[in-house]
Amino acid sequence: MLASEVTSLLDRLGVAPDCRRGARAVRSPLTGETIAHVEDASPQRAAEAIAQAEAAFRQWRHVPAPQRGELVRLLGHELRAAKDALGRLVTIEAGKIVSEGRGEVQEMIDICDFAVGLSRQLYGLTIASERPNHRMMEQWHPLGPVGVITSFNFPVAVWSWNAALALVCGSPVIWKPSEKAPLAALAVQALFERAAAKAGNIPDGLSTVLIGGRDVGEVLVDDPRLPLVSATGSTAMGREVGTRLARRFARGILELGGNNASIVCPSANLDLALRAIAFAAIGTAGQRCTTLRRLFVHDSIHNEFVARLKQVYASVRIGDPLTSDEVLVGPLIDQAAFRNMQRALEQARTHGARVHGGERVDEKRFPNAYYVRPALVEMPAQTGPVLRETFAPILYVMTYTDLDAAIELHNAVAHGLSSSIFSTDMRETEKFLSAAGSDCGIANVNIGPSGAEIGGAFGGEKETGGGREAGSDAWKAYMRRLTSTVNYGDDLPLAQGVRFDIG
Ligand code: NAD
Repeated sequence: MLASEVTSLLDRLGVAPDCRRGARAVRSPLTGETIAHVEDASPQRAAEAIAQAEAAFRQWRHVPAPQRGELVRLLGHELRAAKDALGRLVTIEAGKIVSEGRGEVQEMIDICDFAVGLSRQLYGLTIASERPNHRMMEQWHPLGPVGVITSFNFPVAVWSWNAALALVCGSPVIWKPSEKAPLAALAVQALFERAAAKAGNIPDGLSTVLIGGRDVGEVLVDDPRLPLVSATGSTAMGREVGTRLARRFARGILELGGNNASIVCPSANLDLALRAIAFAAIGTAGQRCTTLRRLFVHDSIHNEFVARLKQVYASVRIGDPLTSDEVLVGPLIDQAAFRNMQRALEQARTHGARVHGGERVDEKRFPNAYYVRPALVEMPAQTGPVLRETFAPILYVMTYTDLDAAIELHNAVAHGLSSSIFSTDMRETEKFLSAAGSDCGIANVNIGPSGAEIGGAFGGEKETGGGREAGSDAWKAYMRRLTSTVNYGDDLPLAQGVRFDIG
């Protein structure tokens, strides 16, 4: 049944029928059924795409940046028109609730708008020279074709964070989407092609999709014609990709896992905190890199607050998100994710945890889909599975008495993506944001760690990989910096007062 809806969505989105044949079966986590087939890119096709991107780069870098922005403006228009259809496809392919599927497309529109403005703001500095009659300046030039590897859980937005910036910066993009969500990628490519046709004079190979698994990703990682690879996914993947990129001195933007925490202080608005924590921990069935996984609650409010959280966990509606807007939790992506979740809960029990929820639901109705009740896990200490990312809706709750000690624990994990504090005491909130506070790339006050806007630079420290994407000055990663010193005098004074008289 889903398969025929997918066919009509792909038709509406302009995906050519010959892209929808092949040996790779695509399944929907909503029911476990096969919804389409696609073909993996052969090594030869990947090599051709890279050669084409290189040729496109030679043309595109000469197009003035505001004209490059015009293409991205048209892409934003296509995305606006396709928001419902593409959002629904994301729901079917990745299992998100409908409002989050649409939200993901909105995020693409937002970054397109941002990039259009940016296309007139690729500023460099002028710098005071220490030498008379000299001027120093920086220019930002297009870098070259960019490889983009994405994860299943944000099947389209992550591409757009990279592509919208790369395109205005003058760089073509070759995209290797997750093998678990190739259809949304094909749909986005079709929308890009519509925008390119309207823009006119767009070189072939400016944007390409290569379907496939890890082996196709590795082709991008290892090819010296790609000076930058942006890779989003697990830390295990990033460790491999980062090492291989370093070997050939290529740049990487690594956007990897997170083990995000919040601290709830005694002065917090607990109604607000409850709503924020529920969204951050349960939303997207715990399958966001920024999902809230660890919660430190002050001992003076712990019992009351955890009792309220338990009620939310027991009552939140789980199920097929296409059946009702009241469903807030869709399925896990697959059986492996379900097994990882159960393993983590088992291990937590051996560390003295009290586990609430975590069981499979709707199993009879959907024997091949994995719906779970989110798990609230009361932990005596931050040990065992609490120290790692399990990509499922598990929230480990711990208690604290002293904020400094809580911040120490907060930072005592391998990842450093997102974090938050709930407090109305500015001494506490400022401490959390200070140099001695959260060690993450993102630290929020009175909101949860998930649901970032595109205006800020997104990414994290430590085993999250250190990359930054989307807003602020993240665009600089897609360009090369040229520092120039111009002598407009007749003498040749050397820097640092060095003398070198040749007679
Ligand atoms: P994954 O690591 O299994 O796969 C991600 C992508 O990497 C896929 O396209 C895959 O084919 C490719 N890949 C895997 N190994 C590779 C290799 N050696 N060389 C080249 N490509 C390779 O991740 P997933 O299960 O799709 O996504 C979930 C993970 O992604 C979680 O850890 C989550 O926290 C993380 N994530 C991070 C961010 C972020 O911005 N920090 C955003 C979304 C997801």
